[in-house]
Amino acid sequence: MVFSCDAFDSHEEVVFVSDPACGLRAIIAVHSTVLGPAIGGCRILPYADDSSALRDVLLLSRGMAYKAAVADVPFGGGKAVVIADPSTQKSPELLRALGRFIDKLDGRYVTGEDVGTTTADMLEIRRSTPHVMGLPEEKGGSGDPSPRTALGCLVGIEASANHVWGSRDLRGRRVLVQGLGNVGFNLCRLLSEAGAGLLVSDVKRDVVEKCVTMFAAMPVDPEAIIDAAADIYAPCALGGVINDRTIERLQVKIVAGGANNQLESPHHGDMLRARGILYAPDYVINGGGMIQLAMERLRRESEETEQRVRNIGDALSAIYRTADMENVATNVAADRLAESRLKSPTVSSRRLEQAKA
Ligand code: NAD
Repeated sequence: MVFSCDAFDSHEEVVFVSDPACGLRAIIAVHSTVLGPAIGGCRILPYADDSSALRDVLLLSRGMAYKAAVADVPFGGGKAVVIADPSTQKSPELLRALGRFIDKLDGRYVTGEDVGTTTADMLEIRRSTPHVMGLPEEKGGSGDPSPRTALGCLVGIEASANHVWGSRDLRGRRVLVQGLGNVGFNLCRLLSEAGAGLLVSDVKRDVVEKCVTMFAAMPVDPEAIIDAAADIYAPCALGGVINDRTIERLQVKIVAGGANNQLESPHHGDMLRARGILYAPDYVINGGGMIQLAMERLRRESEETEQRVRNIGDALSAIYRTADMENVATNVAADRLAESRLKSPTVSSRRLEQAKA
């Protein structure tokens, strides 16, 4: 069941935990600790069945391993999922019980916030284990990672513009931002400061109106976003937006945004390439928040964090050059980079020591 799951991908460790007293049923997946302790958030969702929860945790933990590897931070990838409805079944007892199981992994997995959990929940988990990141600033943490995710997206968009048009300058470029939540709204502010024109879309009308007022953005109906003409499309809401139904309709030259899992399937990267649309691999461009959390863990949250987030632009430029040279899609070039770093034990042992220091 686990080993034969299509998302297994040679995970180092998959732990199933339960505590009937508080209703905890969870899976903790550690994809790899080759580059350092596995980091990745804890998701609480009422999964339809156990196999959906297993598949989700395996895909997410592998994604974190790749994200950390390309961001060149001394961490591996992991994830925890709790099979429960966060609005009715999440309790301090459940969070503390999860913390006790995380503690048994002795630092091989470090948890954080994700869908269904909050920074306040991380404080509760910390009562049972020190292996938690993403604490509120007033409790010694680095606070909300979204502004740094947005900064990474801005420098990634600039690097993408440079690759396509030979200039990072976004003045006069039109950027279509889909999803105006934590990441999308911060990105709109940065893009506006950089002189870009904004087309914005969200299912929540109030945030759209806020962007129209604050950034002179043009609103786009959520149903019409894929057909809107612009220079750059920045998905910052849902995954799977690049698929068989949308690729032919896109009227942009670049897809570069913060959403996770933008490609419904890896071959959609090839289809974008065939259409001459540059794709910024999602786990590279949206790594800013993860870098902040990694630096919090290393107790180096400072100017170094900002610089490392800004390096996302250079990392993307290098991936674009490799993809051109090797004649492959950019998501393939990014995967190859991550996989080569994950197979590099000489570098990794040094990094593990850095992470523990
Ligand atoms: P969020 O929930 O704050 O914002 C998402 C926004 O998208 C909401 O305003 C929602 O109304 C809107 N939305 C939902 N469906 C939509 C649709 N069909 N059309 C237009 N808008 C729609 O989430 P967030 O933290 O900003 O994260 C956004 C994306 O970025 C997610 O895919 C997330 O996994 C990814 N991400 C976030 C971070 C981070 O630091 N927050 C880091 C990495 C990746």
